[in-house]
Amino acid sequence: MRSAQANPLVPESAVLQQARRFVEICNACRYCEGYCAVFPAIELQRQFTSGDLSYLANLCHDCRACYYSCQYAPPHEFSLNLPKAFADLRLETYERYAWPRPLAALFRRNRIAAAVLALLCTALFVPLAKTPSSAAAGSENAGAFYAVVSEAVMIAISGAAFLFAVLALGFGLANFWRDTSSSSGMRVSSLLAAFKDVLILRNLGGGGDGCNNRNESFSQSRRYFHHALFYGFLLCFASTCTAAIYEHIFGWIPPYGLLSLPVLLGTLGGAAVLVGAAGLLQIKVTADPAPTSEVLLHIDYSFLVLLFSAAATGLLLLAMRKSLVMGMLLALHLGVIVSLFLMLPYCKFVHGIYRAAALLRSAAERPRRSQNGAAVTEGAGS
Ligand code: SF4
Ligand code: SF4
Repeated sequence: MRSAQANPLVPESAVLQQARRFVEICNACRYCEGYCAVFPAIELQRQFTSGDLSYLANLCHDCRACYYSCQYAPPHEFSLNLPKAFADLRLETYERYAWPRPLAALFRRNRIAAAVLALLCTALFVPLAKTPSSAAAGSENAGAFYAVVSEAVMIAISGAAFLFAVLALGFGLANFWRDTSSSSGMRVSSLLAAFKDVLILRNLGGGGDGCNNRNESFSQSRRYFHHALFYGFLLCFASTCTAAIYEHIFGWIPPYGLLSLPVLLGTLGGAAVLVGAAGLLQIKVTADPAPTSEVLLHIDYSFLVLLFSAAATGLLLLAMRKSLVMGMLLALHLGVIVSLFLMLPYCKFVHGIYRAAALLRSAAERPRRSQNGAAVTEGAGS
């Protein structure tokens, strides 16, 4: 078993200490064990390293059920508020594992960073965009987009931003995994189980009734909006990949017809992202602030606004691609997309990556949980 503190020479933060105190109380209480995967994971441990606590914080999906049902929540003297403690700790994990490390500061300046980056990226594309004064540029003719912003410029800037995001997210994930993975052996079945958990967002169903967004009452709305956002994002990604195949394998130059596969995928995906982002924003604005981390809330806002802007400018560009404002809309859309790529490693998107890794550890520990459950049952019966 690992020691309770990973490196005794590095002082633990107050946030980490508080999360450990709460988790140890929960491990003795166990009242909430049916609500989510966090409590069964807690029950496997006696001591909690900082890595264990980072894992638990990212396994939590902030449904808040444990806050409204906790007998030790404020005004009790324990003041136990597990969702907020985990949210505060998630923010610390985002900063701790970020790459390159100096850019971790962007998490606490998320709104300003996202806004400045979006403005700068748009300002970069606007002078590069030629006015579509010719019939070719203001039409649906093949190459109309490239007549406004050259293909080389478009690929160089957006490709570099995308590669940077992949690299930074990959290093962040490696840092997270190094610190939080357990000694439980990884099997193919664990990988498949975690993959399925990620795909169906199973845990967002809470204990079965959904999340407590505003108060004690349960709702499935957060789950549905998450689904819209998640699958909308995947559809947009599929649209980009399909367009790349069309262009570079078949030699079909964009823009494509309204009923072509890239446009259909992109339209569906964009609409789903709009619905998901707007719905989640509305839930966050009206949520009970007590179990909320204020800094993390602002990080959520800026990511959702960026996603909403990316989808809205994409759909607007599609709707007005035959008009003379197409050039300006293309520059705006590219600016938002590039700023979104650059912000991905320093915004709420990292939660999706770390949460997938946490679900993988959770799936790997499932056999141990079954044994633990059997041992508890046998102990109770003896
Ligand atoms: S959140 Fe409260 S009620 Fe739930 S397990 Fe922890 S201490 Fe018990
Ligand atoms: S907020 Fe929800 S997901 Fe997080 S620990 Fe509590 S019950 Fe589990």
